[in-house]
Amino acid sequence: MKILRGFAVALGALVVIALGLYLSGVLQIEVTNDDRRPKGTIDQIASFRDRKDLNVLFILTDTLRAQRLHTYGYSRETSPTFDYMASTGVRFARHLAQSSWTKCSMASLWTGLYPQRTGVLRSPHATPEGALMPAEILREAGFRTAGLWRNGWVAPSFGFNQGFEVYERPTAKPMPRNVRVENPHITLEGTDNDVVDGAEEFLRVHGRERFFLYVHLMDVHQYLYDTKSAVFGASYSDIYDNSVLHTDAVIGRLLTIFANQGLLEKTLVVLAADHGEAFGERGIEGHAREVFREETEIPLILGFPFRLEQGVVVENRSRNVDVWPTLLDLLGLPGLPDADGRSLVPEILAAATGRKISDDEPGFAHLERGWGRPESPSRPTVAVTKGPYRFVLQLAPGAARDARVEWLFDGASDPAERKNLIEDRPEVASELRALADAYLEKTPPAWVGKAADVELDEREAAELRALGYAVP
Ligand SMILES: [Zn+2]
Repeated sequence: MKILRGFAVALGALVVIALGLYLSGVLQIEVTNDDRRPKGTIDQIASFRDRKDLNVLFILTDTLRAQRLHTYGYSRETSPTFDYMASTGVRFARHLAQSSWTKCSMASLWTGLYPQRTGVLRSPHATPEGALMPAEILREAGFRTAGLWRNGWVAPSFGFNQGFEVYERPTAKPMPRNVRVENPHITLEGTDNDVVDGAEEFLRVHGRERFFLYVHLMDVHQYLYDTKSAVFGASYSDIYDNSVLHTDAVIGRLLTIFANQGLLEKTLVVLAADHGEAFGERGIEGHAREVFREETEIPLILGFPFRLEQGVVVENRSRNVDVWPTLLDLLGLPGLPDADGRSLVPEILAAATGRKISDDEPGFAHLERGWGRPESPSRPTVAVTKGPYRFVLQLAPGAARDARVEWLFDGASDPAERKNLIEDRPEVASELRALADAYLEKTPPAWVGKAADVELDEREAAELRALGYAVP
């Protein structure tokens, strides 16, 4: 008996050592081995506009909080693929989502317009036909365009298919036996591996043409992981980390397919997100509730068709409205008209050469807290970032003066943003308050038009309920 117990302890120790090796990155991820991209230097990004063979792979991981990725400073090794892409490309260290709710956030990501200017603020709102979407620009420029998604908030009925030749929810395969989904309210079928299978199918047909492929991954949103990635524990927050590690491997699988088909050396890879996730820091869990840092600070990583010797880290504030102005600038294509965002190429070049450039441009995140009840009075919350500061405003119905609640945080001295400085720094507060108030006065440009109201059919409503949202 004693011997058996000793054996069990030894076996346990071996498992722990193996796990440790895995987590410390000794067992390398596949894409590291298969990556045949040549070495390159940052000045080569200027030549992208002359290339006629450069594809775009846009990987959006839903509900991905920057802080939970190792490359963003997290102590747990949740993200070997993200880490690798950051170490050979560009990582934006302070990147802001424009909302904490998928649909509102994605409308801003695609149009380069802040939520107040897309008008996509409530559950029935669709991105207006008048808005110009990147897929339309790329299609016009001769790219084959495809979107594969599993989140009903980006369904075609909400106007997100503009410019895509193929825009589909991939067929859900039966859930493999080693897969766990810990959220009992969630019944979405399939896994993100279905998206990768769909991407592989797309490459089989169009992989030799020039393409723009958008994949929208949902396993982190679903707290879905496989037994191999069940390494961090069993609390809500641990399971989130498990699913980040699992999704990292799914992305690794997709990039390995690209590598093995010789596509990595002619593709711009974008690792993006739509919003983060809260874990009770201010009494709230999940997302689509607030616009504090937990729900809005997200990753952004660019991978080039070559490997940089050393990854570039952009410390200046960047925003999701800047993503497509940057990509279109790199590709030498016409930009998004009248955008709130702008190309971050100057920031990339400055960061690569150690030059400091101004970091004074504000960033906005916005959520209509009554988004699920279209008839209810407006209850917006807006965050304004500038330099190290974040100002957060909540307005109650009627926006009477006493219905305003405000916070001011200094992320430089208080990284967790716990200490409200609204009384202590009146000058900063008043500057950012004025920006927030002016922001809320904005309206969609005439050429965009009003966000259309979409009547969801029962199937679409059921799909959204399957994601855990309360849809009337
Ligand atoms: Zn989302």
